[in-house]
Amino acid sequence: MIEPTWTPERVEQLRSYFEAGLSCRDIAGNIGVSRNAVIGKLSRLNLSRGAPDGERRPRRRKPAAPAERPSAKQQLVMLQAVYDQKADDAPVVSSNSCSLLELSEQRCRWPINTPGADDFCFCGNTPLGGMPYCSGHSRLAYQTGSRQRAARG
Ligand SMILES: [Zn+2]
Repeated sequence: MIEPTWTPERVEQLRSYFEAGLSCRDIAGNIGVSRNAVIGKLSRLNLSRGAPDGERRPRRRKPAAPAERPSAKQQLVMLQAVYDQKADDAPVVSSNSCSLLELSEQRCRWPINTPGADDFCFCGNTPLGGMPYCSGHSRLAYQTGSRQRAARG
């Protein structure tokens, strides 16, 4: 019967010699086995020297993209929200119609009726943010896009 090279006792010796920093040759001499046997056993035990201890790669996450600032794109999004709310042909109610002199940044400047006529005025509704017109008239002003959207949907 052949005695196995690595008895539990020898393995313990191997570990302790290894941790003590002995060379493979010294370990082999102390235990009474071949140097190759020591090297092979160390590798099977995942014991090795000089190997890089588990590469540590810090995983850096990409910084979050900066938030987009209010832009023309956002205005388009607002317009689309308006399109979604109202049917294309819904009439725009201008309950705050005003004259040219009364127009301001805060009033929709959509012309109502024929310029020069007695009842000519401007819509005067509160404009959509960043737009010259109220939501209803913005929709009319950009109706082409609206139609395309309707056709798609
Ligand atoms: Zn308007």
